[in-house]
Amino acid sequence: MKIGILSRNPKLYSTRRLTEASKERGHEVEVIDYARTHMNIAAHNPKIFIGDKDLAGFDAVIPRIGASYTFFGTAVVRQFEMMGVYSVNESVAISRSRDKLRSLQLLARKGVGLPVTGFARDPKATKDLIKVAGGAPLVVKLLEGTQGVGVVLAETNKAAESVIEAFRGLDANILVQEFIKEAGGADIRCLVIGDKVVAAMKRQGKEGEFRSNLHRGGNATVVKITPEERATAVRAARVMGLGVAGVDLLRSNHGPVIMEVNSSPGLEGIETATKKNVAGSIIEYIEKTAAEGKTKTRGKG
Ligand code: ADP
Repeated sequence: MKIGILSRNPKLYSTRRLTEASKERGHEVEVIDYARTHMNIAAHNPKIFIGDKDLAGFDAVIPRIGASYTFFGTAVVRQFEMMGVYSVNESVAISRSRDKLRSLQLLARKGVGLPVTGFARDPKATKDLIKVAGGAPLVVKLLEGTQGVGVVLAETNKAAESVIEAFRGLDANILVQEFIKEAGGADIRCLVIGDKVVAAMKRQGKEGEFRSNLHRGGNATVVKITPEERATAVRAARVMGLGVAGVDLLRSNHGPVIMEVNSSPGLEGIETATKKNVAGSIIEYIEKTAAEGKTKTRGKG
Protein backbone atom coordinates (compact mmCIF):
# COMPACT_ATOMS: atom_id res chain seq x y z
CA MET A 1 0.00 0.00 0.00
CA LYS A 2 0.98 3.64 -0.31
CA ILE A 3 0.38 5.34 3.04
CA GLY A 4 0.43 9.10 3.69
CA ILE A 5 1.05 10.42 7.19
CA LEU A 6 -0.50 13.87 7.53
CA SER A 7 1.94 15.50 9.91
CA ARG A 8 3.74 18.83 10.09
CA ASN A 9 6.97 17.33 11.38
CA PRO A 10 8.61 14.05 10.25
CA LYS A 11 10.91 14.16 13.30
CA LEU A 12 8.14 13.85 15.89
CA TYR A 13 8.22 10.53 17.75
CA SER A 14 4.74 9.42 16.59
CA THR A 15 5.38 10.36 12.96
CA ARG A 16 8.75 8.58 12.99
CA ARG A 17 7.29 5.42 14.52
CA LEU A 18 4.39 5.31 12.05
CA THR A 19 6.86 5.76 9.18
CA GLU A 20 9.10 2.96 10.51
CA ALA A 21 6.16 0.63 11.14
CA SER A 22 4.82 1.20 7.60
CA LYS A 23 8.21 0.34 6.07
CA GLU A 24 8.65 -2.69 8.36
CA ARG A 25 5.35 -4.02 7.09
CA GLY A 26 6.40 -3.52 3.47
CA HIS A 27 4.51 -0.36 2.55
CA GLU A 28 5.50 2.77 0.72
CA VAL A 29 5.13 5.75 3.03
CA GLU A 30 5.32 9.52 2.77
CA VAL A 31 4.97 12.26 5.39
CA ILE A 32 2.71 15.01 4.06
CA ASP A 33 2.96 18.46 5.60
CA TYR A 34 -0.78 19.05 5.29
CA ALA A 35 -0.51 22.76 6.19
CA ARG A 36 1.42 23.36 2.94
CA THR A 37 -1.11 21.72 0.64
CA HIS A 38 -3.62 23.31 -1.69
CA MET A 39 -6.62 21.61 -3.22
CA ASN A 40 -9.18 21.99 -5.96
CA ILE A 41 -12.72 21.48 -4.76
CA ALA A 42 -14.26 19.98 -7.86
CA ALA A 43 -16.98 17.44 -8.49
CA HIS A 44 -14.86 15.60 -11.02
CA ASN A 45 -11.35 14.52 -10.25
CA PRO A 46 -10.70 16.47 -7.02
CA LYS A 47 -6.97 16.82 -6.34
CA ILE A 48 -4.56 17.93 -3.67
CA PHE A 49 -1.05 19.31 -4.18
CA ILE A 50 2.05 20.60 -2.46
CA GLY A 51 3.48 23.18 -4.87
CA ASP A 52 3.17 21.48 -8.26
CA LYS A 53 3.42 17.97 -6.81
CA ASP A 54 0.15 16.09 -7.23
CA LEU A 55 -0.52 13.99 -4.11
CA ALA A 56 -2.17 11.18 -6.02
CA GLY A 57 -2.03 7.43 -5.65
CA PHE A 58 -2.37 7.08 -1.87
CA ASP A 59 -4.35 4.09 -0.59
CA ALA A 60 -4.62 5.36 2.98
CA VAL A 61 -3.82 8.39 5.12
CA ILE A 62 -3.11 8.66 8.83
CA PRO A 63 -4.13 12.13 10.05
CA ARG A 64 -1.98 13.61 12.82
CA ILE A 65 -3.64 17.03 12.87
CA GLY A 66 -2.33 19.53 15.44
CA ALA A 67 -4.90 21.22 17.71
CA SER A 68 -4.23 24.63 16.18
CA TYR A 69 -4.72 23.31 12.63
CA THR A 70 -8.08 21.58 13.10
CA PHE A 71 -9.99 23.67 10.54
CA PHE A 72 -7.51 23.38 7.68
CA GLY A 73 -6.35 19.89 8.64
CA THR A 74 -9.86 18.41 8.56
CA ALA A 75 -10.43 20.05 5.16
CA VAL A 76 -7.33 18.21 3.90
CA VAL A 77 -8.59 14.89 5.29
CA ARG A 78 -11.98 15.57 3.66
CA GLN A 79 -10.29 16.19 0.33
CA PHE A 80 -8.54 12.81 0.52
CA GLU A 81 -11.90 11.22 1.38
CA MET A 82 -13.41 12.89 -1.71
CA MET A 83 -10.63 11.29 -3.72
CA GLY A 84 -11.67 7.89 -2.34
CA VAL A 85 -8.61 7.56 -0.09
CA TYR A 86 -9.16 5.66 3.16
CA SER A 87 -8.47 7.69 6.32
CA VAL A 88 -7.86 5.82 9.56
CA ASN A 89 -9.80 8.62 11.31
CA GLU A 90 -12.39 10.39 9.21
CA SER A 91 -12.65 14.18 9.05
CA VAL A 92 -16.09 14.32 10.71
CA ALA A 93 -14.87 12.22 13.63
CA ILE A 94 -11.80 14.42 14.09
CA SER A 95 -13.94 17.60 14.10
CA ARG A 96 -16.30 16.00 16.60
CA SER A 97 -13.51 14.99 18.96
CA ARG A 98 -11.99 18.49 18.89
CA ASP A 99 -15.17 19.97 20.36
CA LYS A 100 -15.23 18.95 24.05
CA LEU A 101 -18.84 19.88 24.62
CA ARG A 102 -20.14 18.19 21.48
CA SER A 103 -18.16 15.07 22.41
CA LEU A 104 -19.60 14.94 25.92
CA GLN A 105 -23.14 15.42 24.59
CA LEU A 106 -22.65 12.61 22.07
CA LEU A 107 -21.20 10.26 24.68
CA ALA A 108 -23.99 11.10 27.14
CA ARG A 109 -26.59 10.42 24.48
CA LYS A 110 -25.16 6.94 23.98
CA GLY A 111 -25.07 6.25 27.72
CA VAL A 112 -21.26 6.25 28.13
CA GLY A 113 -20.17 7.04 31.74
CA LEU A 114 -19.21 10.69 32.32
CA PRO A 115 -18.62 12.92 35.32
CA VAL A 116 -21.79 14.92 36.07
CA THR A 117 -21.24 18.00 33.90
CA GLY A 118 -23.04 21.35 33.54
CA PHE A 119 -22.86 24.03 30.86
CA ALA A 120 -24.46 27.49 30.73
CA ARG A 121 -23.93 30.93 29.29
CA ASP A 122 -25.99 33.36 31.35
CA PRO A 123 -24.16 34.70 34.45
CA LYS A 124 -27.50 34.46 36.28
CA ALA A 125 -27.29 30.68 35.87
CA THR A 126 -24.05 30.33 37.86
CA LYS A 127 -25.67 29.13 41.09
CA ASP A 128 -27.88 26.66 39.19
CA LEU A 129 -24.85 25.41 37.29
CA ILE A 130 -23.05 24.69 40.56
CA LYS A 131 -26.16 22.87 41.75
CA VAL A 132 -26.36 20.76 38.55
CA ALA A 133 -22.80 19.54 39.10
CA GLY A 134 -23.65 18.59 42.70
CA GLY A 135 -21.99 21.48 44.57
CA ALA A 136 -18.36 21.87 45.73
CA PRO A 137 -15.78 20.48 45.37
CA LEU A 138 -16.05 21.10 41.63
CA VAL A 139 -13.82 21.23 38.60
CA VAL A 140 -14.25 24.26 36.35
CA LYS A 141 -12.69 23.92 32.89
CA LEU A 142 -12.15 26.10 29.90
CA LEU A 143 -13.65 24.45 26.82
CA GLU A 144 -10.66 25.53 24.75
CA GLY A 145 -7.96 24.39 27.21
CA THR A 146 -5.39 21.63 26.55
CA GLN A 147 -2.73 19.95 28.68
CA GLY A 148 -4.53 20.81 31.89
CA VAL A 149 -4.34 24.59 31.38
CA GLY A 150 -7.61 26.19 32.48
CA VAL A 151 -8.68 23.21 34.63
CA VAL A 152 -9.34 24.51 38.14
CA LEU A 153 -10.43 22.74 41.32
CA ALA A 154 -12.85 24.85 43.39
CA GLU A 155 -13.12 23.52 46.95
CA THR A 156 -16.15 25.61 47.98
CA ASN A 157 -19.25 26.91 46.21
CA LYS A 158 -18.00 30.48 46.79
CA ALA A 159 -14.66 29.68 45.13
CA ALA A 160 -16.52 28.00 42.23
CA GLU A 161 -18.67 31.13 41.74
CA SER A 162 -15.57 33.37 41.68
CA VAL A 163 -13.74 31.17 39.16
CA ILE A 164 -16.81 30.92 36.91
CA GLU A 165 -17.27 34.70 37.04
CA ALA A 166 -13.58 35.32 36.31
CA PHE A 167 -13.66 33.03 33.23
CA ARG A 168 -16.92 34.64 32.12
CA GLY A 169 -15.28 38.07 32.39
CA LEU A 170 -12.78 36.82 29.81
CA ASP A 171 -15.64 35.72 27.56
CA ALA A 172 -14.58 32.08 27.81
CA ASN A 173 -16.82 29.02 27.54
CA ILE A 174 -16.57 26.76 30.56
CA LEU A 175 -17.80 23.40 31.83
CA VAL A 176 -18.52 22.70 35.48
CA GLN A 177 -17.90 19.13 36.55
CA GLU A 178 -18.27 16.93 39.58
CA PHE A 179 -14.79 16.43 41.13
CA ILE A 180 -13.78 12.76 41.01
CA LYS A 181 -11.72 12.83 44.20
CA GLU A 182 -11.37 9.06 44.37
CA ALA A 183 -9.34 9.10 41.13
CA GLY A 184 -6.51 10.36 43.36
CA GLY A 185 -4.93 12.61 40.73
CA ALA A 186 -4.60 9.75 38.24
CA ASP A 187 -6.23 8.97 34.93
CA ILE A 188 -6.04 6.03 32.53
CA ARG A 189 -5.12 6.48 28.87
CA CYS A 190 -6.46 3.65 26.71
CA LEU A 191 -5.14 3.39 23.19
CA VAL A 192 -8.05 2.05 21.15
CA ILE A 193 -7.60 0.61 17.67
CA GLY A 194 -10.81 -0.58 16.04
CA ASP A 195 -12.67 -2.52 18.71
CA LYS A 196 -9.66 -3.26 20.93
CA VAL A 197 -7.68 -1.51 23.65
CA VAL A 198 -4.14 -2.35 22.49
CA ALA A 199 -2.31 -0.57 25.34
CA ALA A 200 -3.21 1.22 28.55
CA MET A 201 -1.24 3.37 30.96
CA LYS A 202 -1.94 5.12 34.21
CA ARG A 203 -0.84 8.71 34.49
CA GLN A 204 -0.34 10.01 38.00
CA GLY A 205 -0.09 13.72 38.72
CA LYS A 206 2.82 14.84 40.86
CA GLU A 207 2.35 15.11 44.63
CA GLY A 208 -0.43 17.54 45.55
CA GLU A 209 -1.65 17.90 41.92
CA PHE A 210 -5.11 16.66 40.90
CA ARG A 211 -4.29 16.94 37.19
CA SER A 212 -2.48 13.92 35.77
CA ASN A 213 -1.13 15.58 32.59
CA LEU A 214 2.41 14.44 31.77
CA HIS A 215 3.15 18.02 30.67
CA ARG A 216 2.48 19.05 34.28
CA GLY A 217 5.05 16.65 35.70
CA GLY A 218 2.88 13.53 35.93
CA ASN A 219 4.40 10.09 35.36
CA ALA A 220 3.13 7.11 33.38
CA THR A 221 3.14 3.40 34.17
CA VAL A 222 1.59 0.35 32.57
CA VAL A 223 -1.76 -0.60 34.10
CA LYS A 224 -4.12 -3.54 33.92
CA ILE A 225 -7.62 -2.33 33.15
CA THR A 226 -10.91 -3.99 34.05
CA PRO A 227 -13.29 -5.44 31.44
CA GLU A 228 -15.70 -2.56 32.23
CA GLU A 229 -12.97 0.01 31.57
CA ARG A 230 -12.02 -1.78 28.36
CA ALA A 231 -15.64 -1.82 27.16
CA THR A 232 -16.14 1.86 28.07
CA ALA A 233 -13.02 2.95 26.16
CA VAL A 234 -13.95 0.96 23.04
CA ARG A 235 -17.52 2.26 23.19
CA ALA A 236 -16.33 5.89 23.53
CA ALA A 237 -14.09 5.55 20.44
CA ARG A 238 -16.92 3.92 18.49
CA VAL A 239 -19.45 6.63 19.47
CA MET A 240 -17.00 9.29 18.26
CA GLY A 241 -16.48 7.32 15.04
CA LEU A 242 -12.70 7.06 15.51
CA GLY A 243 -10.68 4.08 14.23
CA VAL A 244 -7.69 5.07 16.36
CA ALA A 245 -8.24 7.01 19.59
CA GLY A 246 -6.65 7.87 22.89
CA VAL A 247 -9.45 7.54 25.42
CA ASP A 248 -8.82 9.13 28.83
CA LEU A 249 -10.90 7.92 31.73
CA LEU A 250 -11.03 8.34 35.50
CA ARG A 251 -11.77 5.59 38.02
CA SER A 252 -14.80 6.95 39.87
CA ASN A 253 -16.91 5.26 42.52
CA HIS A 254 -19.71 5.10 39.94
CA GLY A 255 -17.51 3.26 37.42
CA PRO A 256 -15.19 4.50 34.67
CA VAL A 257 -15.95 8.05 33.46
CA ILE A 258 -14.64 9.56 30.24
CA MET A 259 -12.53 12.72 30.34
CA GLU A 260 -11.66 13.06 26.71
CA VAL A 261 -11.32 11.17 23.43
CA ASN A 262 -8.26 12.18 21.43
CA SER A 263 -8.07 11.63 17.66
CA SER A 264 -4.27 12.04 17.33
CA PRO A 265 -2.99 10.27 20.44
CA GLY A 266 0.76 10.60 21.05
CA LEU A 267 2.64 7.30 20.82
CA GLU A 268 5.78 8.08 22.82
CA GLY A 269 4.32 7.93 26.35
CA ILE A 270 2.25 4.82 25.73
CA GLU A 271 4.89 2.84 23.78
CA THR A 272 7.51 3.67 26.41
CA ALA A 273 5.28 2.80 29.38
CA THR A 274 3.85 -0.41 27.90
CA LYS A 275 6.74 -1.49 25.59
CA LYS A 276 4.11 -2.27 22.94
CA ASN A 277 4.43 -1.68 19.22
CA VAL A 278 1.35 0.56 18.94
CA ALA A 279 2.51 2.07 15.62
CA GLY A 280 2.72 -1.46 14.15
CA SER A 281 -0.82 -2.22 15.37
CA ILE A 282 -2.13 0.94 13.68
CA ILE A 283 -0.59 -0.09 10.34
CA GLU A 284 -1.92 -3.63 10.75
CA TYR A 285 -5.41 -2.17 11.37
CA ILE A 286 -5.14 -0.11 8.17
CA GLU A 287 -4.18 -3.23 6.21
CA LYS A 288 -7.34 -4.93 7.48
CA THR A 289 -9.79 -2.08 7.04
CA ALA A 290 -8.58 0.03 4.11
CA ALA A 291 -10.16 -0.76 0.80
CA GLU A 292 -10.74 1.66 -2.01
CA GLY A 293 -13.96 3.63 -1.54
CA LYS A 294 -14.48 2.21 1.93
CA THR A 295 -14.56 5.62 3.61
CA LYS A 296 -18.07 5.94 4.99
CA THR A 297 -18.59 9.65 4.55
CA ARG A 298 -16.51 10.33 1.42
CA GLY A 299 -16.04 13.88 2.63
CA LYS A 300 -19.73 14.59 3.11
CA GLY A 301 -19.41 15.77 6.70
P1 ADP B 1 -6.98 18.80 29.26
O1 ADP B 1 -7.73 18.41 28.03
O2 ADP B 1 -6.55 20.23 29.28
O3 ADP B 1 -5.90 17.82 29.63
P2 ADP B 1 -8.77 17.53 31.12
O4 ADP B 1 -10.22 17.80 31.14
O5 ADP B 1 -8.31 16.23 30.53
O6 ADP B 1 -8.04 18.76 30.43
O7 ADP B 1 -8.22 17.64 32.60
C1 ADP B 1 -6.83 17.53 32.93
C2 ADP B 1 -6.66 16.55 34.11
O8 ADP B 1 -7.31 17.06 35.28
C3 ADP B 1 -7.32 15.20 33.85
O9 ADP B 1 -6.44 14.33 33.14
C4 ADP B 1 -7.59 14.72 35.26
O10 ADP B 1 -6.43 14.13 35.85
C5 ADP B 1 -7.92 16.02 36.00
N1 ADP B 1 -9.38 16.22 36.01
C6 ADP B 1 -10.12 16.84 35.06
N2 ADP B 1 -11.43 16.82 35.35
C7 ADP B 1 -11.55 16.18 36.52
C8 ADP B 1 -12.66 15.84 37.37
N3 ADP B 1 -13.91 16.17 37.03
N4 ADP B 1 -12.40 15.17 38.52
C9 ADP B 1 -11.13 14.83 38.86
N5 ADP B 1 -10.04 15.13 38.12
C10 ADP B 1 -10.24 15.79 36.97
